[in-house]
Amino acid sequence: MKSYRKELWFNIPTRRALINITPQVREALQESGITEGLCLVNAMHITASVFINDDESGLHQDYEQWLESLAPHAPTSQYQHNRTGEDNADAHLKRQIMGREVVVAVTNGKLDFGTWEQIFYGEFDGRRRKRVLVKIIGE
Ligand code: ZN
Repeated sequence: MKSYRKELWFNIPTRRALINITPQVREALQESGITEGLCLVNAMHITASVFINDDESGLHQDYEQWLESLAPHAPTSQYQHNRTGEDNADAHLKRQIMGREVVVAVTNGKLDFGTWEQIFYGEFDGRRRKRVLVKIIGE
């Protein structure tokens, strides 16, 4: 069995953003030389997510509104977590909802997606360097 590991680094200039990282994951798969196996992609931070959904701008706005209605950023004083001096309690909660990682099957050297599936990095507390792990195992 072969294995391949790569870190993808991001420095998002805004607090929140959704980035389609499918091209970077595809590139990692090509570098791995693996044609049959599994590809894990996970956020390496507790205030960011990796998830799969459609690359559609209306949907991305809907996520923003939905997440803000569930865990609004402001007022930051509403969260116990922020009593430590941080202001990112909402980012921890948003990450929990949107998930930590995805696993995609690798078939014939390709990411074996369902219709419209794309991989996204969800940033909920940006403006600093953060990373995503890609781990691919197989033959
Ligand atoms: Zn925090």
